[in-house]
Amino acid sequence: MEGILLRAAAPPGHAKRLYSCSFRVARQNVARILRPMSMTDLDSGITENLNQRLLSHGVRPTAQRLRIASLLLGRPQHLSAEQVLAGLRNQGMRVSKATIYNTLNLFAASGLIRQLSVGNDRCWFDSNTDAHYHFHDLDTGALMDVSLRDVEFQRLPEPPPGMQVDGIDLVIRLRRKSAA
Ligand SMILES: [Zn+2]
Repeated sequence: MEGILLRAAAPPGHAKRLYSCSFRVARQNVARILRPMSMTDLDSGITENLNQRLLSHGVRPTAQRLRIASLLLGRPQHLSAEQVLAGLRNQGMRVSKATIYNTLNLFAASGLIRQLSVGNDRCWFDSNTDAHYHFHDLDTGALMDVSLRDVEFQRLPEPPPGMQVDGIDLVIRLRRKSAA
């Protein structure tokens, strides 16, 4: 473990700050994370389920949004916008970066997914919206979930006058042990 980055989550009104994260490439894990899948592979039960999930978050379920949702929401995972784009293009879908970015931001704003800012210049989209922390593997770039019950804070600073803590993000950076 190299170090711990502790950062109070931005209050809802400040969420836009995260949207300015640059659109960086994280290609090395694309093939492993994203299995090619066409929309025709989705059975109607899954499509209906995604439909309901989008609607329940106030998101109008267009065909394109359902495709993006099917890629992201199938299981707990962390994907960059570039990885989502690569996954959709693997499926033969013609889609622009701007569309992906807008859709991911919409999903994040509606609470369907959670946007994470890890390091200085990379945004991740987390399909697990339950409260949790993260390990960050510096060698591969991968993020892994850490349960709240595995972390205990002994001491936290008093928030400034008139402020209250809205949330805590914890990213534990990891690197491989060097051979002794
Ligand atoms: Zn996560």
